[in-house]
Amino acid sequence: MATVISDSKSRPMDDNTIIALLSGKGPDEALFEEADRIRREIYGDAVYLRGLIEISNYCRNNCYYCGIRKGNTKLDRYRLDKDTILACCRDGYHLGFRTFVLQGGEDPYYGDEPYGGADGDALLCDIVSEIHTRYPDCAVTLSVGERSRESYQRLFNAGARRYLLRHEAASPDLYRTLHPAEMSLENRMRCLYDLKEIGYQVGAGLMVGAPGQTLEHLLDDIHFMQKLQPDMIGIGPYLRHSDTPFGKSTAQCAQGLRKEQKLELTLRLLAVLRILFPFALLPSTTALGTIDPNGRELGLKAGANVVMPNLSPADVREQYELYDNKICTGEESAQCRNCLELRVISAGYRIVTDIGDVKRTASEGNANHGTE
Ligand code: SAM
Repeated sequence: MATVISDSKSRPMDDNTIIALLSGKGPDEALFEEADRIRREIYGDAVYLRGLIEISNYCRNNCYYCGIRKGNTKLDRYRLDKDTILACCRDGYHLGFRTFVLQGGEDPYYGDEPYGGADGDALLCDIVSEIHTRYPDCAVTLSVGERSRESYQRLFNAGARRYLLRHEAASPDLYRTLHPAEMSLENRMRCLYDLKEIGYQVGAGLMVGAPGQTLEHLLDDIHFMQKLQPDMIGIGPYLRHSDTPFGKSTAQCAQGLRKEQKLELTLRLLAVLRILFPFALLPSTTALGTIDPNGRELGLKAGANVVMPNLSPADVREQYELYDNKICTGEESAQCRNCLELRVISAGYRIVTDIGDVKRTASEGNANHGTE
C-alpha cells in the first residue's frame, strides 16, 4: 500500500488556520476526520508497536516540570544493567515487538563523559550493539537526552537508528521558563540537527499545556518542526508532578489549562500535525492515557499511529514517574501489550508488529522494510 502522495514531507497551512484549528473554531469532528483520512491514505489502519524500556531514572538535569529531575530527592533511583535490558528485549521479542526504545534520564553512568572511572558511552554502545546482534530484524531507538555529536555517532555505529529528543519548546522565552539556566535551547537544537545529519530517524516533540505555553508558542513549535522535518513527533499533555517546582507552585497550577482543555488541545494538535506531516509517526502517548482513561484511543482517532507499551521490569516502573498518577506502572509487559492491542482494535485500527519505519516521500525513497 503506502501510496506516495507527494514529494514533500510536510504540507503548508497558513498561521491563522492553524491557530483557528487549535482553538477549536470549527467542528473538531471535521478536523479529526480529515486527519484520519490522511493517515489511512498513507498508513492504512496500521498502528506500530514500540516497546519502551525505561533504563534509568537518574538524571543530571533539573527541568522544572519533570518528576525524575535531579532535585527530586524523594525519588528512589534505579538503573537497569545490560542483562536486565536484554531480558526486557527477549520478552518483548516473544511478544512481537520489533522496535525497542531505550529511554532514560540523562544518567551520567550511561553518559557521554567519563564518570567514576567508567565510560558510559562504551557501556551504552555495548548494549545497543548486543541488541542489534541478537535481534537483527529489530530497530533500536534511543531517548537518552543531549549528548555530544561524537557520542551520537558512536551509538549510531553501534546500531541505533532512531532517536527521540523532544525539543520541548521552540520559543526561547518559553524554553527558558521550563528549564534552568544551565540548559539551552541552542544545545537541544544542535543535538537534533546532529542526529539528523548522522542519519538517525529523528523524533522531536513537546508537552501540550506546559505552564506558560500559548497557541503562539505551539505555532513556533510547528514552524520549527517544518524546518527540522522530524520523522517522529511525540506530543502529550503536560501533567503535574507534586515533587517538582511547577507541581508545588500554586500560581502555576492556577494559571494552567484544565484537564479537559489539555486533552482537547492535545487531540487537536495531533490532528493538525497529521495533516501537516502526513508521513510522520505520531505516538498516542501514556500521558494521554493518564489524563483520560480513553485518551490513547482518542489520540489514535485524531491521527496517531504508534503505541508504546512498557517493557520495563514491573518492579521499577513506579520509579519512572515523570508525572503524578502515571498509568501502567503495575502491569507486566504482556498485560501492557494485550491491553493496548484491545484499545487499538476498539478504536478501529490494528496493531502491526513489524519494524515500522517511517514511510518516505517519492523524492527520498521509502525506507520501509516490509511495513506492508
Ligand atoms: N532524558 C530524555 C530527554 O530529555 O529527552 C528522555 C527522558 S524525558 C523524562 C522524556 C519526556 O518526558 C520529556 O521529553 C518530556 O517532554 C516528558 N515529560 C517530563 N515531565 C513531564 C510531565 N510532567 N508531563 C508530561 N510529560 C513530561
